[in-house]
Amino acid sequence: MRQIVPLPAFKDNYIWLMHDGRHAVVVDPGDAAPVSDFIAQHDLTLAAVLITHHHADHVGGLAALAPDCPVYGPAREDIAGITHPVQAPDLVSIPEFALTLQVLDVPGHTRGHIAYYTPGVLFCGDTLFSAGCGRLFEGTPAQLFDSLNTLAALPDDTQVYCTHEYTLANLAFAQAAEPDNPARDRWLDECTARRHAGEPTLPSSIAREKAVNPFLRPDSPSVREALARHTGQAPADALAAFTALRAWKNTF
Ligand code: ZN
Ligand code: FE
Repeated sequence: MRQIVPLPAFKDNYIWLMHDGRHAVVVDPGDAAPVSDFIAQHDLTLAAVLITHHHADHVGGLAALAPDCPVYGPAREDIAGITHPVQAPDLVSIPEFALTLQVLDVPGHTRGHIAYYTPGVLFCGDTLFSAGCGRLFEGTPAQLFDSLNTLAALPDDTQVYCTHEYTLANLAFAQAAEPDNPARDRWLDECTARRHAGEPTLPSSIAREKAVNPFLRPDSPSVREALARHTGQAPADALAAFTALRAWKNTF
């Protein structure tokens, strides 16, 4: 049976590792130690490494890990150690898991950021977080908005494996950005309980994110009212609302 486990790294990163008791696929190994420890403890062989973007907290463990398997990563970014540069609409096949992942281009957080999708599973790096989204380091608001809409169009039951435990901080902003959202209030209660119990709030799902994440709901009446109060003017359209939300979050 295939399972996907979070390996906590640094302050709030998750390195997601899929395994079936024999083989493993690891996503964004920013640090090698948690990965090599888990692989040794469970006697696994690495079948593939998936990289979403070039930031150190996602690729920093590659050199020490020195994986003896394909390392997939964004063709539009320059990352040492990638053996298979990919971009949409490339497919990544992992025969050990009889698995094919679709590569999605999701620029915005970085210029070449990619995500990996197979029915039921999305590895989205720093593009989509629960109740939030990545910062705009290299792309435009329009690019990131498009990228998020690409992800939001995936099936509702897709599990979303985000790479940071930012959920509670994102939910605090979401309360300000969309005061009236009972589904979000329930998700906040659940995440608060999970964090008290020392559990991750992730994975999330596309259905949940469409219900609670203000960055996927810039047209909601409550978001529009909050933005009008915050900026002094009602947003002209969904992209303007998204752009204003992203800027507001940076100073929240
Ligand atoms: Zn990043
Ligand atoms: Fe990151």
